[in-house]
Amino acid sequence: MTPAGSLLHADGLHKAYGPTPALDGASFSIHAGEVVAVMGPSGSGKSTLLHCLAGIVRPDSGTITYNGRELSAMSDSERSSLRRSEFGFVFQFGQLVPELTCTENVALPLRLNGLKRKEAERRALEWMDRLEVADLGHKRPGEVSGGQGQRVAVARSLVTGPRVLFADEPTGALDSLNGERVMELFTQAARSANAAVVLVTHEPRVAAYSDREVVVRDGRSRDLEHAV
Ligand code: ADP
Repeated sequence: MTPAGSLLHADGLHKAYGPTPALDGASFSIHAGEVVAVMGPSGSGKSTLLHCLAGIVRPDSGTITYNGRELSAMSDSERSSLRRSEFGFVFQFGQLVPELTCTENVALPLRLNGLKRKEAERRALEWMDRLEVADLGHKRPGEVSGGQGQRVAVARSLVTGPRVLFADEPTGALDSLNGERVMELFTQAARSANAAVVLVTHEPRVAAYSDREVVVRDGRSRDLEHAV
């Protein structure tokens, strides 16, 4: 059963890579607009949980329900269309396209969805403005700082209006001052868009921006606290 109001819900997830269990009965639940930090030591199964929730990795057993639909019941093309239209991703290293300007990078998901260049770039600049990087529009990723690049990557993840954002150590490559600014703007922007954020981190300072923390240990998860 999916708990009432839950947008994305997972129960009893198991996943093994050969003899190594990565997930051993993990569960997870998130509401629209909620920011949940997934914490735990290295190798505990955090990234595997995130990849299962995002429909990138198929668990060996267990259920994942998004908006009332079970991911395992969807075809591969339905799942990838879901990822394109409803999910957004932010990684540790922004993974911006180096040949494109920052504006073109943010506009790219909209261009791939068939939007005309002018409209795509107008929307891109709106999000870049919220992430305070609109003035970097004409620069290429190689010409901006790590923190600025991550804010561009966050703008790109939000431009399509996703319902769920998956962030895997989004500030892992930044110093603490830049990391905190990125988290502040990231969570502010996600909340204003009512997007749920699944935030994988091992840094308590980063997790402090969440509403709730889930700890993963040896492939099993448990709720730590409701901070808000
Ligand atoms: P975390 O994100 O908490 O560091 P992971 O989910 O990356 O943990 O990994 C959990 C366990 O699964 C680890 O033992 C890791 O070595 C193993 N693992 C993860 N991904 C793979 C993979 N693609 N192939 C083999 N083993 C993997």
